[in-house]
Amino acid sequence: MLDRFLSPEQSAWLRQFESFSAAEVAPYADEWDLKEATPAMVVRKLGVNGWLGGLAKKENGGLGFDPTTFGLLNMAIGAGSGSLTGLLNVHSMVLKTIESWGSLEQRQRFLTPLVKGEIIGAFAQTEVSAGGDSKNLSTRFEEHGNDLIVQGQKTWITFAQIADLFLVFGKYQGLDTAVLVPKDTPGLTVTAKRNMLGFKSAYLAVLDFDGCRIPKANIVGKPGFGQSLISTGALDYGRISVAWAAVGIQQAALAASARRANSRSTFGSLLADQGIIRGYLAEMSGSLLASQLICLSAAKAKEAREEDALEQILQAKLFASREAGAAADKAVQIHGGHGCDESNGVSRLYRDAKILQVVEGSNELQKMLIGKEVCNRYSHGAPQAVL
Ligand SMILES: Cc1cc2nc3c(=O)[nH]c(=O)nc-3n(C[C@H](O)[C@H](O)[C@H](O)COP(=O)(O)OP(=O)(O)OC[C@H]3O[C@@H](n4cnc5c(N)ncnc54)[C@H](O)[C@@H]3O)c2cc1C
Repeated sequence: MLDRFLSPEQSAWLRQFESFSAAEVAPYADEWDLKEATPAMVVRKLGVNGWLGGLAKKENGGLGFDPTTFGLLNMAIGAGSGSLTGLLNVHSMVLKTIESWGSLEQRQRFLTPLVKGEIIGAFAQTEVSAGGDSKNLSTRFEEHGNDLIVQGQKTWITFAQIADLFLVFGKYQGLDTAVLVPKDTPGLTVTAKRNMLGFKSAYLAVLDFDGCRIPKANIVGKPGFGQSLISTGALDYGRISVAWAAVGIQQAALAASARRANSRSTFGSLLADQGIIRGYLAEMSGSLLASQLICLSAAKAKEAREEDALEQILQAKLFASREAGAAADKAVQIHGGHGCDESNGVSRLYRDAKILQVVEGSNELQKMLIGKEVCNRYSHGAPQAVL
């Protein structure tokens, strides 16, 4: 279906992403999930293919992916492993932040290795007491001459166990600020966070910053840019990643369910011949189609820098992750007891789909932001409707 909306180049990328995911990701994702680890070789291959730096501009050594192509990558990888989309997500957010806001020195030092996947970036915003409420971070950057001392803790940081560079959000002189902290900075401790509900092979970690000294030159952009410009700009890509990953989960849930329905007999006939099961499959495929369209719309709005791009991206993340949850729920139901086995792929889809409703701003936060956009649109007399 999607191809009719894609350029020949985008379709060609999609075929490459899908064959990589089918050969190198999907067959192993359950094993990775149980082991709570992603092999270094897969991360390396994503780097060698150029996909970790896909979003970077060509003049910076990247592939210059437009948001749709980045979305297609997340969709294809997401159909194989939700956890692995976490890497594309956070690494791309760090990379795009440095490309857009980094000083010359920061770009010279970090951008090329990030683009090549030689180093891995992670996005460290959430704290135990402040997730969605990101204005209330307690991490502090205190000035000591030409240095900053970083003090605080971050939690649930995706791919932090193997990351080399952290984009860390906190307060500097009372202003929301983002800084770069390399992993080998003395005083930084990375502790694996295991036993998560989903995204089990996404190498989550807790970061403790205990008197980490970094040069003031590691501030990204300017003090005060942390939330208003840097985090929100990065999250556009993060949410595109999540929305399309949710489409991938729906594809995988539908395919597994249809295969199961075609092979499982109960009471003398196939599940596929039962009206109620066909109804589930019809709902799943309808929601998948709608999710693809809303994700395409959001990616194209972002590419064209349209006025309503933010709202479109928020809607895509909200809708596609909610439908991924519904699809994975039906997939488990269609698989019955087998689907409830932790090692069964649909169980993983179910758990990962739930994560997509929480990360990158919970779905409640998406609704709050969308509602605000809608109110703004209708605030000056006659509605200036875009929808
Ligand atoms: C697998 C995983 C990976 C993650 N990766 C990262 C990462 O790489 N980097 C990072 O910085 N963070 C990461 N996070 C953290 C994630 O972004 C936060 O958990 C998320 O933003 C929600 O914040 P919170 O957990 O503090 O929830 P809270 O803010 O405590 O909210 C709890 C619930 O209440 C709802 N709620 C809160 N306020 C309101 C309100 N005013 N009105 C209505 N409802 C409200 C929320 O929607 C949510 O459902 C990750 C989390 C998970 C689970």
